[in-house]
Amino acid sequence: MALEQSQELIQLHFLVIPMGSPGHYIPTIDMAKLFAQHGVRVTIVATPVNALRFGSILDQAIQSGLPIRFLEFQIPYKEFGLPEGCESLDDLPNMGMTGALLQAYRSLQTQVEQYIEKLDPRPHCILADTFLLWTGETAKKFQIPRIIFDGMNCLTKMCNHVLYFSKVHESVGESESFVLPGLPDHIELKRSQLPFAFRSSHEAVIDFHGKVRASESEAYGVVVNSFEGLEQGYVDEYQKVKGDKVWCIGPLSLCHKDESEKVQRGNKSSVNKDECLKWLDSQENGSVIYACLGSISRVEPAQLIELALALESSKRPFIWVVRAGHNTEKIEKWIDEEGFGERTKDKALLIHGWAPQLLVLSHPAVGGFLTHCGWNSTLEGVCAGVPMVTWPQFQEQFYNEKLVVQVLRTGVSVGAQKTSGLWVDEDKSGELVKSEAFLNAIEMVMEEGKEGEERRKRAKEIGKIANKAIEDGGSSHRNMTGLIEDIKNQANIGN
Ligand code: UDP
Repeated sequence: MALEQSQELIQLHFLVIPMGSPGHYIPTIDMAKLFAQHGVRVTIVATPVNALRFGSILDQAIQSGLPIRFLEFQIPYKEFGLPEGCESLDDLPNMGMTGALLQAYRSLQTQVEQYIEKLDPRPHCILADTFLLWTGETAKKFQIPRIIFDGMNCLTKMCNHVLYFSKVHESVGESESFVLPGLPDHIELKRSQLPFAFRSSHEAVIDFHGKVRASESEAYGVVVNSFEGLEQGYVDEYQKVKGDKVWCIGPLSLCHKDESEKVQRGNKSSVNKDECLKWLDSQENGSVIYACLGSISRVEPAQLIELALALESSKRPFIWVVRAGHNTEKIEKWIDEEGFGERTKDKALLIHGWAPQLLVLSHPAVGGFLTHCGWNSTLEGVCAGVPMVTWPQFQEQFYNEKLVVQVLRTGVSVGAQKTSGLWVDEDKSGELVKSEAFLNAIEMVMEEGKEGEERRKRAKEIGKIANKAIEDGGSSHRNMTGLIEDIKNQANIGN
C-alpha cells in the first residue's frame, strides 16, 4: 500500500515488544514491517544485541521512509546470571536458564513504562509477545489495547485448548495414542509427543503456563502468523473460543521480496549469498533437499550422524545446515574426521551456522525441505510450495507435522515418536531416528511417481494461496486492514 494512500493512518502508533528467540523475534520484525507498510507508525522495543541481530533487515525499509524505529533498552545481564550480551534463547548456555532470560526481560517493564508516560498521545496499541506477561500489566496501567503474538498457528492453539479442557492426555500412558476430541480433523498423538507444558511436573512450569493462559484471556486480541486458506476450520474454531479479535495476518515472511532482504533475515548468514545462489543455480530444478532444524534445536551428534548418512545415501544434491548448539564442535569433527565432508563435496553444500533460509527455499532447485517443524520454518516451506520431510523435535512441532502430513498432505513423516529433551526436566532419554527412516521419507518426497507428483502439486497450489493471502484483496491483507481499523476506532482516530 502506498504511504500517500494511508495518510489518515499515519497517526496510529503501535509499540511492538518482541521476545528474545529467533522463532519469535524474526516474525515479529516481519510483522512490524507489514504494519508500517500499512501506514502505522511502529516503535520496536529492543535490546542492543537483538536490535543488531534481527533489526538490520529493516535498515533498507527505514531508509526508504517506512515509519519504524527501534527503542533500545539495556538488560542487566549479570543481575540474572546471564552471560554478557545474552538476549535470546539460542544464546543461553543451557535451556534451564530460560526463566532467567524471562526475568531479565521483565526488567524492561519500568523503562518501557517511563517511555510511555512521557508520550502524548500514548501508543494506540501494544503488540507484545505472549510470554512477556508484564506487558499485560503495562497495557492495563495505561489503558492501551494489548494484542498478543506467540508465533503459533490456529491448529496448535486449538490442540492446546482441547487438551487443557478435556485432559484426555492425563489418562493415557507415555507411548499410547489418543485422539484430540472435537477438532475438524482426526488428530491422533502420543503423550510423548505433546508440548512440554502438558508433560512437565515442574511447579514453576505449570505456574508459568497458568499465568500465560490468564494473561492471554485478558488481552484485547491475538495476531496469528497464518492464513485462512491454510487452516480455515481451525481459524473458525479458534474464533469461537476467543471471539472475533483473532487476526490471521500471515505468512509474515512474505513481506521480504528482494534477495538482499531475504539474506539479512535473522542472524548473519554463514554462507556468501552469491556462492549459495551459484551452487543452487548449478542444480536441476526440484532436485535439492534442504535440511535445517531451526534456531534452537540441540540434537545429539549420534542422531545428526543418522541424518547426515541418509542425506548422503539419497544420492541427491543437498544443503545441510550444520548446527547443534553445544554439540556443534563434535559434529563438525565427525564431518572432517570421518570423511563425510570429502565424500559429499560434489553433491552437497554444508552451511556451518546460519542459512539464508528464505533465499534457499525460494530457489527453484529446491525440491524438498527436511524440517524440524518449527512453525516459521513450516510456513516458509508452505510459501515456497515445496513438499516437506517432517522431523518434529519439541514444543508444538508434532501438531505442525500433523497439519503438513495429514491435513495438507504435503509432507512425509520420518516417524519420530517423542519430543527430544530441550529443557531441564524433560525426558532426555530420547529416541534415535535411524538413517533408513530419514532415507525412506526423503525418497517418498522426492520420487517422481504419481504419489510424489500429486504431493508436489498440492504443495505448489497451497504455496500460491499463501502468496495471494497477503496481497491486496487477500484474506491476510483484509485482516490486517480490519485490525488497523479496529484500533483506529478504539483510539477515535479518523472518525
Ligand atoms: N532460520 C534461518 N536460518 C537458519 C535457521 C533458522 O533463517 O539457519 C530462521 C527460519 O527461517 C525461521 C526461524 O529462523 O524463520 C526459526 O523459527 P522456527 O519457528 O522455524 O523454529 P525455532 O527456531 O523457533 O525452533
